[in-house]
Amino acid sequence: MKEILVPYTGQAYECTMCGACCHHHIVPLTKTDLERIGSTLDPESFAAYHESLGSIVLARGDEGGCTLLTGSRCGIHDTKPVICRLFPFAAYPEPRDASDGLAHEYLLPDGSLVYLYVNTACPGVREDARAPMPRWLLSLIQRIRIEMALTRFYYEITSSDR
Ligand code: SF4
Ligand code: SF4
Repeated sequence: MKEILVPYTGQAYECTMCGACCHHHIVPLTKTDLERIGSTLDPESFAAYHESLGSIVLARGDEGGCTLLTGSRCGIHDTKPVICRLFPFAAYPEPRDASDGLAHEYLLPDGSLVYLYVNTACPGVREDARAPMPRWLLSLIQRIRIEMALTRFYYEITSSDR
C-alpha cells in the first residue's frame, strides 16, 4: 500500500476493513501497547526489535502482514496499538512541505499544535466528501505523543543501566 499523504481538510472517512494498512507498515509499539497486548499474548508472537529504529515494533509474517491479522481484520481490535488507531491520519509538528498551502494547525488538548494529514491510499477515505473531524482524533494524537515520550524515556534509562 503506497502512502499518499495529503493535508487533512475534513475528508470523510469510514474504515472498510480491507486490511490493506496492516501490511508492510512499520508500527512502533509503546511500552503501554506492549503491556496491554502482552497481558493476553506472548510478546514473541507479535513484537520484534527493529534495529535501525532502535525500538520494538509489530512483527511481520512471511507475506508482510501483521501477525495479528485474522483474515483481513485486526485480531485484537479492542486492544490494538495506538499507532494503528491513528491510521489513515498522520500528525506532524510542522507542515510536511513549506509550500503546502492547505495544511493548517490544530490544537491538542494540552495546547500544543499539530498539522494533520490523511492517507488517501486508504479506500475508506473519501476525497469527494467532507465530514466533521472525528472527536477522538486530537485526544488520540496527544495520547500517542505521551506514550511515545514515556517509551523513549524508558528505553533510555534501561539501556543506561546495562
Ligand atoms: S486501509 Fe483504510 S479502509 Fe482498509 S483497513 Fe486500513 S483504515 Fe480501514
Ligand atoms: S495490530 Fe491490528 S490494526 Fe495493527 S497492524 Fe496488526 S492487525 Fe492491523
